Amino acid sequence: IKKIAVLTSGGDAPGMNAAIRGVVRGALSEGLEVFGVYDGYYGLYHNKIKQLNRYSVSDVINRGGTFLGSARFPEFKDREVRAKCAEVLRSHGIDALVVIGGDGSYTGAKLLTEEYGVACIGLPGTIDNDVPGTDYTIGYQTALETAVEAIDRLRDTCSSHQRIAIVEIMGRHCSDLTISAAIAGGCEYIVASEHAFDREELIQQIERSIANGKRHAIVAITELITDVHELAKEIEARVKHETRATVLGHIQRGGTPCAYDRILASRMGVYAVELLLQGKAGYCVGIQNEQLVHHDIIDAINNMRRPFKEDLMKVSEKLF
Ligand code: ATP
Repeated sequence: IKKIAVLTSGGDAPGMNAAIRGVVRGALSEGLEVFGVYDGYYGLYHNKIKQLNRYSVSDVINRGGTFLGSARFPEFKDREVRAKCAEVLRSHGIDALVVIGGDGSYTGAKLLTEEYGVACIGLPGTIDNDVPGTDYTIGYQTALETAVEAIDRLRDTCSSHQRIAIVEIMGRHCSDLTISAAIAGGCEYIVASEHAFDREELIQQIERSIANGKRHAIVAITELITDVHELAKEIEARVKHETRATVLGHIQRGGTPCAYDRILASRMGVYAVELLLQGKAGYCVGIQNEQLVHHDIIDAINNMRRPFKEDLMKVSEKLF
């Protein structure tokens, strides 16, 4: 391997820049040439590729987002599109590709390796912490800090106005962010996607606690479960207590990456290059029990679904 490329794909996450920097500096220190692919698989298809040097990644370790840009490009599921992408890489003499993204991006990378012999390594970049084969994804810890800060702010205004606040937190079908943010933010109720949502039970619990003299409360809920504004109206009508919903949305995706994410991303970027130099391809990188690990991408996706954090949920129930 002499020339490698790096791209970011799927939703952006704080720390992606640090991961790109890790790949670039790791590769240069091994005497490899490195190329940046702009705008994910879309940019690969359209040959948006530029050679990077060590200064290309100066002043990015502390910046959120991804300077390479990211994109959703469903066309990449089409084999002919992937064939063209492999051809683009060959035309630059690039033999390996590091893909920073979620499990969708991983699947695309694995196909490029299997079908066209491009040596691909996946790095987990998403705030959702929903990527198999790793305890933590790049961006998760930063998004957690952001969500907790938002909850703290909501708490100030809720307690001043004796309100009930509902805060919708990202994560798609993974509630790691919600549960951890709720514990750190002292939320009274958690609605997680991994448990069936019992609307009636939630409302009754809130009714009981207000009847017992509680003056304000915060409900943390994962996105895609219910319309939180409708839920707020229903709670207000039933409990007779002012209720407001706040959707944190993309605020959680942005911002300066925290130290943990910068370090994780840097380690993973360097490790990806080491794997490629060992002739490994079609693997994804993770951190498990504080150790860097790599797994076959398909094995990770099919067999390493991350378990729901039931233990954290139990702790949270004792705290409220
Ligand atoms: P996030 O968790 O942030 O959403 P992701 O990588 O899972 O990240 P997706 O939108 O699922 O996000 O995938 C990103 C890109 O990866 C897609 O736009 C597409 O280009 C490619 N991709 C996804 N699934 C596949 C697949 N089954 N085969 C080939 N390519 C895929």
